Amino acid sequence: MSSHAVSSQAGSGDGRFVIHLPIVARDLRAAINVAVALARSLAFVPQLDIGETTVSGEDLQSVHHRVFCDRALPRSRRCGARHGHDGPCDSESGSG
Ligand SMILES: [Zn+2]
Repeated sequence: MSSHAVSSQAGSGDGRFVIHLPIVARDLRAAINVAVALARSLAFVPQLDIGETTVSGEDLQSVHHRVFCDRALPRSRRCGARHGHDGPCDSESGSG
């Protein structure tokens, strides 16, 4: 059975809250591919923190696998390439 607690009580309003919207996939690679597609398709949602997208095994939800690089770039931007990508981060090269 599930080992994590689920509360139905409303929070105090302190800090941020994260929406857990379970979407399942057959394996880690498929989960990452679905996560990338979904995150990018929902980029218009201002509350979405795309760079913090992770996937985890259903039976090991304490271990999160990053989906995007999310490295800090100049001008308050973040790298939108996949985690562990080859080559330079998005828009890191060139100055204008
Ligand atoms: Zn990067």
